[in-house]
Amino acid sequence: MDYDVIIIGGGASGLACAVTLLKGAECKVCVLEAGERLGRKLAATGNGQGNISNTELGSSHYHGGNVPLAEKIACVDPYEGARFFNCLFAPDDKGRIYPAGKQASALVDSLNFTLKSLGAEIYTASRVTDITRINGGFAVNTANKTFTSRFVALCAGGKAQKHFGTDGSAYALVRKFGHAVTPLYPSLVQLKTDVTHIKTLKGIRAECNATAVVGGKRVKTVRGDVIFTEYGVSGNAVFTLSAYLTDKPDSVVSLEFLPDFSAEDIEKDVNAKINAGYPVAELLSGTLHNQIGRAVVRRAQSPEAKEIVRVLKNFTLEVKGTLGFDYAQVTKGGIDMRGVTDGLESKFAPGLYFAGEILDIDGDCGGYNLHWAFTGGKRAALSILEKL
Ligand SMILES: Cc1cc2nc3c(=O)[nH]c(=O)nc-3n(C[C@H](O)[C@H](O)[C@H](O)COP(=O)(O)OP(=O)(O)OC[C@H]3O[C@@H](n4cnc5c(N)ncnc54)[C@H](O)[C@@H]3O)c2cc1C
Repeated sequence: MDYDVIIIGGGASGLACAVTLLKGAECKVCVLEAGERLGRKLAATGNGQGNISNTELGSSHYHGGNVPLAEKIACVDPYEGARFFNCLFAPDDKGRIYPAGKQASALVDSLNFTLKSLGAEIYTASRVTDITRINGGFAVNTANKTFTSRFVALCAGGKAQKHFGTDGSAYALVRKFGHAVTPLYPSLVQLKTDVTHIKTLKGIRAECNATAVVGGKRVKTVRGDVIFTEYGVSGNAVFTLSAYLTDKPDSVVSLEFLPDFSAEDIEKDVNAKINAGYPVAELLSGTLHNQIGRAVVRRAQSPEAKEIVRVLKNFTLEVKGTLGFDYAQVTKGGIDMRGVTDGLESKFAPGLYFAGEILDIDGDCGGYNLHWAFTGGKRAALSILEKL
């Protein structure tokens, strides 16, 4: 065999897997990466600042086929992924953990340095086209060469933002072994909505409580920014909610403007304006962004304070879809977890392991997906080390 382990994909999970293996035992490890460089997606995360984890870990932040396993692997130590890097980290006021220098590209530099010093063999511009079982291991084909190894870790990411090398074609590599792939949806993504009531709000940002309502049930509320656009809504609150809506028909986003003020206080304010003779359109003037205030009043069925406040506290937008995989940060769905052991090994092709976004586990916005990638890469490597 050429190698002990071939890792397919030089992203967050693949690199964590490689470092764990090389630190854990004397072994020959090779990383095959389709792109020209390692870690291109990692370098773009967190708006280029690298939000790698979150201080508030918990199973409620993960979705997919085996959330209890995601909890076991990823919800132990928020700084587990941070230990792969030679730098300091700190959380912001929302618990999102970043490198102190706030440069995601420096994280890739750090991993490159570590891998080289540990002796990993790295082949970039090497897209894997096939994996086959051979005696005692696997043969892994790229366009130019066949590599062999005892173990393979498939860490090739999902389908989000194909310009990072993740076009979704990697799922096909393991279908032949009997692995199913659950339906795939873009997640952490902008939402297309009915725009009837927000046509005049393009480009306006509002801080509100945003709630995902599925089949009439309120499933998740977050406080954050919503940005109105020509297709619907964007902003960090919307990205978070998209994880709860993307695969659900019949869903609605409900926006509560002025979340720090009670309905009674706002009603008093509107009544004061009515008594002072304000035109109906201006009854929220000064209290809410003028354009948003006018949109709320227009939508109210009467110019009474109670009705205006009702609309302001529950400004609903019917969800029509998302902007799609090219805009999504992550893929919901993936390799069916029923075919994967707790050690992230294939139940159909022993010796084949998985980690990261390619699996049917996805996380909320806020560092949960990179944390899943790093801890999953480490988990797969520890399982392989037990057999080396
Ligand atoms: C713009 C953006 C911002 C994000 N920000 C955050 C954030 O702040 N915090 C957070 O937690 N998450 C964030 N995410 C999500 C996070 O980056 C991913 O979930 C994470 O990188 C997944 O890691 P991975 O190793 O599974 O896959 P990837 O990092 O996608 O790596 C997979 C690698 O495999 C390679 N590959 C694919 N197919 C093959 C093949 N056949 N042969 C060889 N190589 C192959 C790809 O080129 C790629 O380099 C963001 C995503 C995007 C797109």
